[in-house]
Amino acid sequence: MKLVFATGNSGKLREASEILGEGFELVTPAQVGVPEDIPETGKTLRANSIQKAQYLYDKSGSNCFADDTGLEVDALGGAPGVYTARYAGEDKDFVKNMDKVLHELEVVASEARMASSLGLKVKPVSRRARFKSVITLIINGEKHIFEGSLEGKIAYAKSGNGGFGYDPIFMPDEYPGQTLADITEEQKNEISHRGKALRAMGKWLADNFAEGRQA
Ligand code: IMP
Repeated sequence: MKLVFATGNSGKLREASEILGEGFELVTPAQVGVPEDIPETGKTLRANSIQKAQYLYDKSGSNCFADDTGLEVDALGGAPGVYTARYAGEDKDFVKNMDKVLHELEVVASEARMASSLGLKVKPVSRRARFKSVITLIINGEKHIFEGSLEGKIAYAKSGNGGFGYDPIFMPDEYPGQTLADITEEQKNEISHRGKALRAMGKWLADNFAEGRQA
Protein backbone atom coordinates (compact mmCIF):
# COMPACT_ATOMS: atom_id res chain seq x y z
CA MET A 1 0.00 0.00 0.00
CA LYS A 2 1.30 3.45 -0.94
CA LEU A 3 1.15 6.08 1.81
CA VAL A 4 2.55 9.58 1.95
CA PHE A 5 4.33 10.34 5.23
CA ALA A 6 4.25 14.03 6.15
CA THR A 7 7.90 14.37 6.99
CA GLY A 8 11.07 15.69 5.44
CA ASN A 9 13.13 13.96 8.11
CA SER A 10 15.01 11.04 6.57
CA GLY A 11 15.54 9.46 10.03
CA LYS A 12 11.81 9.32 10.62
CA LEU A 13 11.11 8.02 7.14
CA ARG A 14 13.63 5.20 7.61
CA GLU A 15 12.21 4.33 11.04
CA ALA A 16 8.65 4.25 9.72
CA SER A 17 9.59 2.09 6.70
CA GLU A 18 11.35 -0.40 8.97
CA ILE A 19 8.46 -0.55 11.43
CA LEU A 20 5.66 -0.84 8.87
CA GLY A 21 7.56 -3.44 6.85
CA GLU A 22 7.31 -4.65 3.29
CA GLY A 23 3.62 -4.18 2.63
CA PHE A 24 3.95 -0.41 2.61
CA GLU A 25 5.58 1.97 0.17
CA LEU A 26 6.24 5.26 1.94
CA VAL A 27 6.71 8.39 -0.15
CA THR A 28 7.52 11.95 0.85
CA PRO A 29 5.25 14.99 0.40
CA ALA A 30 7.67 16.36 -2.22
CA GLN A 31 7.18 13.19 -4.28
CA VAL A 32 3.44 13.93 -4.51
CA GLY A 33 3.87 17.62 -5.33
CA VAL A 34 3.84 19.12 -1.82
CA PRO A 35 7.40 20.42 -1.35
CA GLU A 36 6.58 23.30 1.01
CA ASP A 37 6.77 23.28 4.81
CA ILE A 38 3.51 21.90 6.16
CA PRO A 39 1.87 24.30 8.66
CA GLU A 40 1.99 23.28 12.33
CA THR A 41 0.18 25.90 14.39
CA GLY A 42 -1.91 23.79 16.81
CA LYS A 43 -1.78 24.06 20.59
CA THR A 44 -1.57 20.28 21.13
CA LEU A 45 0.27 17.36 19.53
CA ARG A 46 -3.09 15.96 18.41
CA ALA A 47 -4.14 19.24 16.77
CA ASN A 48 -0.80 19.49 14.95
CA SER A 49 -0.91 15.90 13.81
CA ILE A 50 -4.41 16.34 12.39
CA GLN A 51 -3.50 19.68 10.79
CA LYS A 52 -0.45 18.23 9.01
CA ALA A 53 -2.27 15.15 7.71
CA GLN A 54 -5.30 17.18 6.55
CA TYR A 55 -3.08 19.71 4.73
CA LEU A 56 -1.25 16.93 2.92
CA TYR A 57 -4.45 15.10 2.03
CA ASP A 58 -6.12 18.29 0.74
CA LYS A 59 -3.07 19.17 -1.38
CA SER A 60 -2.22 15.72 -2.72
CA GLY A 61 -5.47 13.73 -2.57
CA SER A 62 -3.34 10.77 -1.50
CA ASN A 63 -3.76 8.46 1.47
CA CYS A 64 -1.31 9.80 4.00
CA PHE A 65 -0.28 10.11 7.60
CA ALA A 66 1.44 12.65 9.81
CA ASP A 67 2.96 12.37 13.24
CA ASP A 68 3.56 14.99 15.86
CA THR A 69 5.93 14.23 18.68
CA GLY A 70 6.66 16.05 21.88
CA LEU A 71 9.02 15.63 24.81
CA GLU A 72 7.51 16.32 28.24
CA VAL A 73 9.89 16.92 31.14
CA ASP A 74 8.17 16.80 34.53
CA ALA A 75 10.49 19.25 36.31
CA LEU A 76 9.92 21.75 33.49
CA GLY A 77 6.14 21.60 33.89
CA GLY A 78 5.76 19.41 30.79
CA ALA A 79 7.95 21.61 28.54
CA PRO A 80 9.02 21.58 25.78
CA GLY A 81 5.78 19.70 24.91
CA VAL A 82 4.15 20.99 21.76
CA TYR A 83 7.13 23.34 21.26
CA THR A 84 9.67 20.48 21.20
CA ALA A 85 10.98 21.23 17.68
CA ARG A 86 11.41 24.96 18.33
CA TYR A 87 12.32 24.94 22.03
CA ALA A 88 15.52 26.95 21.54
CA GLY A 89 14.41 28.93 18.48
CA GLU A 90 12.86 28.88 15.04
CA ASP A 91 15.95 27.31 13.47
CA LYS A 92 14.90 23.98 15.11
CA ASP A 93 18.54 23.28 16.00
CA PHE A 94 18.48 20.02 17.93
CA VAL A 95 21.84 20.64 19.66
CA LYS A 96 20.57 23.98 20.98
CA ASN A 97 17.28 22.31 21.94
CA MET A 98 19.05 19.62 23.97
CA ASP A 99 21.37 22.19 25.56
CA LYS A 100 18.34 24.23 26.59
CA VAL A 101 16.67 21.25 28.29
CA LEU A 102 19.91 20.43 30.16
CA HIS A 103 20.34 24.08 31.13
CA GLU A 104 16.74 24.53 32.32
CA LEU A 105 17.02 21.40 34.45
CA GLU A 106 20.27 22.73 35.94
CA VAL A 107 18.47 26.01 36.78
CA VAL A 108 15.65 24.11 38.54
CA ALA A 109 18.21 21.98 40.42
CA SER A 110 20.23 25.00 41.51
CA GLU A 111 17.07 26.77 42.72
CA ALA A 112 16.24 23.65 44.73
CA ARG A 113 19.77 23.56 46.20
CA MET A 114 19.47 27.24 47.17
CA ALA A 115 16.09 26.69 48.82
CA SER A 116 17.47 23.70 50.66
CA SER A 117 20.49 25.70 51.87
CA LEU A 118 18.03 28.22 53.33
CA GLY A 119 16.51 25.41 55.38
CA LEU A 120 13.44 24.95 53.17
CA LYS A 121 12.18 21.42 52.57
CA VAL A 122 12.55 20.60 48.87
CA LYS A 123 11.95 17.43 46.95
CA PRO A 124 14.86 16.13 44.83
CA VAL A 125 14.47 17.40 41.25
CA SER A 126 13.03 14.65 39.09
CA ARG A 127 14.50 14.18 35.62
CA ARG A 128 11.52 12.03 34.58
CA ALA A 129 10.34 12.66 31.03
CA ARG A 130 8.45 11.04 28.21
CA PHE A 131 8.08 11.23 24.46
CA LYS A 132 4.57 11.20 23.09
CA SER A 133 3.63 10.67 19.46
CA VAL A 134 0.25 11.18 17.85
CA ILE A 135 -0.27 9.88 14.32
CA THR A 136 -3.18 10.90 12.12
CA LEU A 137 -3.86 8.58 9.18
CA ILE A 138 -6.19 9.80 6.45
CA ILE A 139 -7.40 7.02 4.29
CA ASN A 140 -10.07 7.56 1.64
CA GLY A 141 -10.85 10.85 3.40
CA GLU A 142 -11.40 9.33 6.87
CA LYS A 143 -9.20 10.22 9.83
CA HIS A 144 -7.86 7.69 12.31
CA ILE A 145 -5.66 8.58 15.30
CA PHE A 146 -2.95 6.39 16.88
CA GLU A 147 -0.82 7.23 19.92
CA GLY A 148 2.32 5.96 21.63
CA SER A 149 4.57 7.06 24.48
CA LEU A 150 7.98 6.23 25.90
CA GLU A 151 8.92 6.84 29.57
CA GLY A 152 12.43 7.69 30.68
CA LYS A 153 14.76 10.24 32.23
CA ILE A 154 16.83 13.13 30.95
CA ALA A 155 20.57 12.34 31.14
CA TYR A 156 23.06 14.78 32.70
CA ALA A 157 25.01 15.00 29.43
CA LYS A 158 24.61 13.94 25.80
CA SER A 159 25.68 10.43 24.90
CA GLY A 160 25.68 8.33 21.74
CA ASN A 161 25.84 8.83 17.99
CA GLY A 162 22.66 7.16 16.81
CA GLY A 163 19.13 8.43 16.34
CA PHE A 164 18.16 12.06 15.90
CA GLY A 165 16.60 15.00 17.73
CA TYR A 166 16.72 14.65 21.51
CA ASP A 167 17.88 11.01 21.45
CA PRO A 168 21.33 11.74 22.99
CA ILE A 169 19.78 13.08 26.22
CA PHE A 170 16.86 10.67 26.66
CA MET A 171 17.42 7.51 28.72
CA PRO A 172 14.49 5.10 28.23
CA ASP A 173 13.47 3.03 31.28
CA GLU A 174 14.05 -0.13 29.24
CA TYR A 175 17.83 0.60 28.89
CA PRO A 176 19.03 2.05 32.21
CA GLY A 177 22.15 4.20 31.86
CA GLN A 178 21.90 4.38 28.05
CA THR A 179 20.36 7.02 25.86
CA LEU A 180 18.29 6.43 22.74
CA ALA A 181 21.38 7.46 20.79
CA ASP A 182 23.44 4.71 22.49
CA ILE A 183 21.15 1.84 21.52
CA THR A 184 20.62 0.48 18.02
CA GLU A 185 17.91 1.72 15.70
CA GLU A 186 16.22 -1.68 16.00
CA GLN A 187 16.22 -1.49 19.81
CA LYS A 188 14.81 2.03 19.66
CA ASN A 189 12.05 1.10 17.22
CA GLU A 190 10.91 -1.73 19.48
CA ILE A 191 10.21 0.58 22.42
CA SER A 192 9.74 4.03 20.94
CA HIS A 193 6.70 6.29 21.12
CA ARG A 194 6.51 6.49 17.33
CA GLY A 195 7.18 2.75 17.01
CA LYS A 196 4.16 2.01 19.20
CA ALA A 197 1.93 4.46 17.33
CA LEU A 198 3.14 3.18 13.93
CA ARG A 199 2.60 -0.46 14.89
CA ALA A 200 -0.92 0.40 16.06
CA MET A 201 -1.52 2.05 12.68
CA GLY A 202 0.01 -0.92 10.83
CA LYS A 203 -2.24 -3.33 12.73
CA TRP A 204 -5.31 -1.24 11.99
CA LEU A 205 -4.42 -1.15 8.29
CA ALA A 206 -3.81 -4.91 8.22
CA ASP A 207 -7.16 -5.55 9.96
CA ASN A 208 -9.10 -3.17 7.74
CA PHE A 209 -7.35 -3.38 4.40
CA ALA A 210 -6.45 -7.01 4.11
CA GLU A 211 -6.67 -8.76 0.73
CA GLY A 212 -9.49 -7.55 -1.45
CA ARG A 213 -10.05 -4.38 0.53
CA GLN A 214 -7.26 -2.31 -0.93
CA ALA A 215 -7.46 1.42 -0.33
P1 IMP B 1 8.08 16.46 15.01
O1 IMP B 1 6.79 16.12 15.61
O2 IMP B 1 8.58 15.43 14.10
O3 IMP B 1 8.05 17.84 14.40
O4 IMP B 1 9.16 16.46 16.15
C1 IMP B 1 9.18 17.43 17.14
C2 IMP B 1 10.54 17.47 17.76
O5 IMP B 1 10.75 16.27 18.51
C3 IMP B 1 11.74 17.63 16.84
O6 IMP B 1 12.65 18.50 17.47
C4 IMP B 1 12.32 16.25 16.77
O7 IMP B 1 13.72 16.27 16.57
C5 IMP B 1 11.98 15.68 18.13
N1 IMP B 1 11.77 14.25 18.03
C6 IMP B 1 10.75 13.64 17.39
N2 IMP B 1 10.88 12.31 17.50
C7 IMP B 1 12.00 12.08 18.22
C8 IMP B 1 12.67 10.90 18.63
O8 IMP B 1 12.27 9.76 18.36
N3 IMP B 1 13.79 11.08 19.35
C9 IMP B 1 14.27 12.30 19.67
N4 IMP B 1 13.70 13.43 19.29
C10 IMP B 1 12.56 13.32 18.57
